[in-house]
Amino acid sequence: MTTLKLPEKQPWMKTAVELPELPWAKNALEPVISANTIDFHYGKHHNAYVLKTLELTKGTELEGQPLEMIMVVAAADPSKKGLYNNAAQVWNHSFYWKCLAPCGTVKPSDALKAKIEKDFGSWEEFRKQLIAAGMTQFGSGWAWVVIDGDKLSILKTPNADEPWGETQAPVLALDVWEHAYYLDYQNKRQAYLEAVIDNLINWDFVEKQIELHKS
Ligand code: MN
Repeated sequence: MTTLKLPEKQPWMKTAVELPELPWAKNALEPVISANTIDFHYGKHHNAYVLKTLELTKGTELEGQPLEMIMVVAAADPSKKGLYNNAAQVWNHSFYWKCLAPCGTVKPSDALKAKIEKDFGSWEEFRKQLIAAGMTQFGSGWAWVVIDGDKLSILKTPNADEPWGETQAPVLALDVWEHAYYLDYQNKRQAYLEAVIDNLINWDFVEKQIELHKS
């Protein structure tokens, strides 16, 4: 359940309810994530969440509203749990794609490395905690790096839940639903997490999110 603030107060939170273009070609994440996985994950799963959100808001006061507004309203109303789940999954996936970049193209900057060492003790400890969050999320869900104030931390959420809080914002998302890795890694969730963290993260995007949300 989100405690996201209403989007009009935070102008960057105006995501349209649509399937965004991917920031890279479908085969650009190979060999870590195959084009086949992207075809299903983006083309079928993500697209289905978009279509369901549009269907559930059509003809209501939420039709045409930004995704963040739909999430806030739906999270506050238990009868709109289905809408919340679909809208949050649209948001989470759109954010997840931006967290990824073709193999080895983006290295963490010295400033980001220093920030992570300050908040977690070492890069290894950060990596270990992030993998552990993904591995201990029982069933479907997400592993996150979030910022609260000026402090980074790691958490996990079940199913569609996002990590927005009054002062907490996501800076990195890792999808640990089986559809994110099963075609490429079958049951080996840890191998997927390790390969993505070590090769595919768009650390420039992560650093920009830290700058945007830190206080
Ligand atoms: Mn997914």
